[in-house]
Amino acid sequence: MKTLNPTYRRKDLEKILVSEDSISKRVRELAADLSDEYGSNDVTVVSILSGAMVFTADLLRLLEFPTRLDCLRAESYGNLAESSGPPKITNPLKTDVAGRHVLIVDDILDSGRTLKSILEYLGQAKPASLKSCVLLDKKDRRKVDITADFVGFEIPDAFVVGYGLDFAERYRNLPCIGILKQEFQESAAHEH
Ligand code: 5GP
Ligand code: MG
Repeated sequence: MKTLNPTYRRKDLEKILVSEDSISKRVRELAADLSDEYGSNDVTVVSILSGAMVFTADLLRLLEFPTRLDCLRAESYGNLAESSGPPKITNPLKTDVAGRHVLIVDDILDSGRTLKSILEYLGQAKPASLKSCVLLDKKDRRKVDITADFVGFEIPDAFVVGYGLDFAERYRNLPCIGILKQEFQESAAHEH
C-alpha cells in the first residue's frame, strides 16, 4: 500500500492562511455555538454546493440537535475569481422548509451576493427561522449589506483554495486553506 505524504497536497500553495488544526478547532467551537443556539430543535441544514461540502461534512457530524440535510447550488456569472451579478439558484431544495428552522452553511462570504440571493430564495419558503453559518468571511470585499450569524474566520482580501474551496474545480481536497502560487493560478486558468 502506498504511504500517503501529508505535504504533497499543499505543494502548490504560496501560503497557508488557516491550518488543518485551526479549522478543526474552530469547527468544534462553531458546532458548540450552534448546539447552544438550537437546543433540541429540529434544523434543516442547507449546504451550498460545491464549496461548502467539506465544511458541512465536518460540522454536521458535531451538531447535537436533530438535523435534516438539503443542498442548494448557486452559480454566479463572471470570471473565475470574481462574482459579478446576483447568482442563479440552479438546484432547488428537495425538502419543504416551510415552518422549519433553516441553517444555511456556506464556504465563504465575499461580495455577499450569493448569501443575499439564498436568503431571499429560502425566505420565500416561509421557514420558522433562517440563519447562516460561513467558514470564511472577507469583510473588506462586501458589496451588499449582509452579515452571517456564525463565522469561522475573518480573512484578508485574497483568493483562497482548500477545504472545499476550488480554483477551476481543483484544490477542494486540500485539508487546509491557503493562497495558490501564481504559476498554478495561471496553469489552471489556461486549462479552463
Ligand atoms: P459572493 O457572492 O459573496 O461574492 O461570493 C461567494 C462565493 O464566491 C463563494 O461561495 C465561493 O464560491 C466564491 N468565492 C468567493 N471568494 C472566494 C475565494 O477566495 N476562493 C474561492 N475558491 N471561492 C471564492
Ligand atoms: Mg460557493
